[in-house]
Amino acid sequence: MQARTRECRHCHEAFVPCPSARHNQTHCSKPGCQRARKAKNNRRFRKRNPDYWKGACHVERTREWRKAHAKTHPREKDRD
Ligand SMILES: [Zn+2]
Repeated sequence: MQARTRECRHCHEAFVPCPSARHNQTHCSKPGCQRARKAKNNRRFRKRNPDYWKGACHVERTREWRKAHAKTHPREKDRD
């Protein structure tokens, strides 16, 4: 029996999807292709939830989180 292959949507090379994956894999496991997949998902999420990143509560929560985790998660560039 021949292994079922798919064409990666990013590099267009054939790959064998993981049989245990519940969802249909659209990208192969190359780092560049995974990055492209995540970026695409992120764009889609933002499109579907346009207010998610704008909400004042979100901004406030982020600020609080940064304050609480400033020591363990120092920001690389402090622009404030
Ligand atoms: Zn690929």
